Amino acid sequence: MKELLYLEIPTPDIAAVRQWLQQEWRPLLGRKIVCPEGVRCQFSQAITASVSTVTENELSIFVWSVQRTTYLKAFAWGKVSAAMQRVTRQLTTALREQFPQRYPELPAINENNDIFQELAPYYPETVRFFRKMPRGEYDLQRVYWWEKRWRDRVRQPKPGKTVVFSGDKLPETLLNQPLYDIIYIGGALGAIHAAVMAQRGYRVLLVERLQFGRMNREWNISREEFARLIELGLFTAEEFAAIIAREYEDGFSKFYDGSLPNHLKAAVLQTPTVLNIALDSGKLLALCGEKLRRAGGEICDETEFIQAEVAPQGIALQLIHLPTKTQKVVGGRLLIDAMGTASAIAGSSMERGPLIVSVPRWGR
Ligand SMILES: Cc1cc2nc3c(=O)[nH]c(=O)nc-3n(C[C@H](O)[C@H](O)[C@H](O)COP(=O)(O)OP(=O)(O)OC[C@H]3O[C@@H](n4cnc5c(N)ncnc54)[C@H](O)[C@@H]3O)c2cc1C
Repeated sequence: MKELLYLEIPTPDIAAVRQWLQQEWRPLLGRKIVCPEGVRCQFSQAITASVSTVTENELSIFVWSVQRTTYLKAFAWGKVSAAMQRVTRQLTTALREQFPQRYPELPAINENNDIFQELAPYYPETVRFFRKMPRGEYDLQRVYWWEKRWRDRVRQPKPGKTVVFSGDKLPETLLNQPLYDIIYIGGALGAIHAAVMAQRGYRVLLVERLQFGRMNREWNISREEFARLIELGLFTAEEFAAIIAREYEDGFSKFYDGSLPNHLKAAVLQTPTVLNIALDSGKLLALCGEKLRRAGGEICDETEFIQAEVAPQGIALQLIHLPTKTQKVVGGRLLIDAMGTASAIAGSSMERGPLIVSVPRWGR
């Protein structure tokens, strides 16, 4: 048996898809037989002979639904024939026409108004739960921002604007002051690395757009992986114990097999020590921030990276402090882009290519 088709059909209405499949869809070749969850297509020797393939064979096509989406799979019984492939191609086209991949538009809102009021008519339950959260309004604005940004990018993939430039010299304001050895932009995983480097004696600055440590992150890890950070001397075993939110005794992966006969069901894959420790990311980041500052590092939070100019003497970074809208320029010798998937550098059309831009004359 071989899987030939696995489609996501963007509708929660599984009954409509099943009905269409069973009653309306006409396979190009073969004989359609209606089954409880879909259809079977039987191809006889006479039918497949015209496409010069094997004899008796059959396609099994069924639908199921998870999380408001319908899925369809087609399996070939026996040897895969050209007839089967033609029918699955025809089915794909017909399904896409019948159930087009159109997702509901994000409602346009006035961003100057209360986001709860703006979104309540469309997503009452989402608004209800965000209202209960501390600073839920701020977080819902972020969710809306991310959703909008993702949709815009999917619709019109285009490189962002250039944010790293080459220059001849650093701006006057930076010439008579010491440069940071390393400037990290992004205070999630960047905060861990920044703390290590500050402890190693480097002069470190960390820039973060949000309030430092207020990043809702999903960080699961295994004891063995975290042990590396303890060996490195960044955390003690006691500190690690204090940031564990939950330790799971077991984990497993199991694939959907409700429609498969028993002899084809795969065994459950046990993974008891993979990502079994959920960290409290807020506590972890707070601890990194403390260690960074104790080692002489600095944090500029609620501050956004705008652009960087790389000169022979160093790198000048233009930043903006968001609450006051004040611009400032800082200088460093190494810039580390830790902005994650929202990185203005990774998403830009760059004059210079690298994600890490360093200036020579390293050493202290
Ligand atoms: C649902 C989910 C579950 C996950 N589960 C796990 C897990 O179990 N284990 C695991 O290890 N990983 C997990 N991950 C992945 C993990 O969360 C990410 O890999 C990790 O957060 C990436 O860290 P980062 O620092 O590279 O980027 P990010 O976490 O995206 O952080 C980037 C930071 O840069 C800041 N920033 C962005 N642009 C600017 C700018 N212009 N100026 C200033 N600051 C800026 C942002 O505010 C942000 O704080 C999960 C991810 C998701 C979405």
